[in-house]
Amino acid sequence: MAKTKEAAMRTKNLRGIVRLSALAGLAVGGLALAQEAPDRGIVHVGGDLYRAHNNAHNTVFLVTSEGIIVSDPINRDFAEWLQGELASMYDVPVRVVAYSHHHWDHASGGEVFADTAEVIGHETMPGALALPSGDTPLSDAAAALDANGNGQIEQSEASGNLAGQFALIDADGNGMLTGAEIARGPVSDVYPPSTVYSDTRTVTLGGKSVELIHVAAAHSPDMTVLRFPDEDAAFFVDIISLKRLPFMDFPGLEDVDSLIGTIQAVEAIDFSIGVGGHGDIGTKQDVADHRGYIEALRDAVAAGIADGQSLEELQASITMDEYSDWGSFNWLPNNIAGMYRILGGGN
Ligand SMILES: [Zn+2]
Repeated sequence: MAKTKEAAMRTKNLRGIVRLSALAGLAVGGLALAQEAPDRGIVHVGGDLYRAHNNAHNTVFLVTSEGIIVSDPINRDFAEWLQGELASMYDVPVRVVAYSHHHWDHASGGEVFADTAEVIGHETMPGALALPSGDTPLSDAAAALDANGNGQIEQSEASGNLAGQFALIDADGNGMLTGAEIARGPVSDVYPPSTVYSDTRTVTLGGKSVELIHVAAAHSPDMTVLRFPDEDAAFFVDIISLKRLPFMDFPGLEDVDSLIGTIQAVEAIDFSIGVGGHGDIGTKQDVADHRGYIEALRDAVAAGIADGQSLEELQASITMDEYSDWGSFNWLPNNIAGMYRILGGGN
């Protein structure tokens, strides 16, 4: 599992570009944001299980006598930080990386652990990371940025997410984004799994175990929930956030009942302590409460649509007061807009 020279060079290249674009942002906009140190820390969940966070993103790790099992690496810089923290606390290496799913903001940087670890993902993860066919056209939004009309987006043409995530989208590191690279998304630093599993897999190390459980595709086809039987705990990402509103307007979600079904599948898993990729550490009841919020929002928005109310009217009338102490409660108008879209409001 030695790092190839090509991969090492790509990494170097990637970092150079990231640094360059951060500096460019600073020079152009005077934005200090890109330079701010991320908030990081580690808390004990229970038994040998710990949660580590990078700003609003969480991962977990299980310490055993023969090595450490880590879930999402989150990003390369965080993974290097975590590797250093683990090396200072334990004299065993990371032996397993178990991905929750392939999305860039949770799965990037796994290469940091690849020298010592088996990297495991669901069997649909390699396909989700694959580059689409080379003749994939630019999306309409990207085509509008293609000032020189060469069918690709150079850094100087990029704006918004394409500019901010340029190096992570640019799979071959040639400084130009093709339609295929843009369609695949900013996953260039997601290290592909070295092993895949289909429905469930139990990984045992140093007398401890973690179960990888595939759950239905509400958020991503390759979604894995991790269950730690000795700790009576489970780790789940993006489908459930404990004591926090769902992210913004449910991006990419087309069917709310599929999401509710996926949450119910998580509730059917045997655990007491729940750890989310976002939000607090909580209980099985908190998972049910998250589903309860989504069901209440669905019912309120559906009733408003049936009443002929506009989105603006719904955003003014649906207050969800019961949940006002949850994190990111300011996303309520976005949540309402997303549910309105999902339920076909305005059509
Ligand atoms: Zn995700």
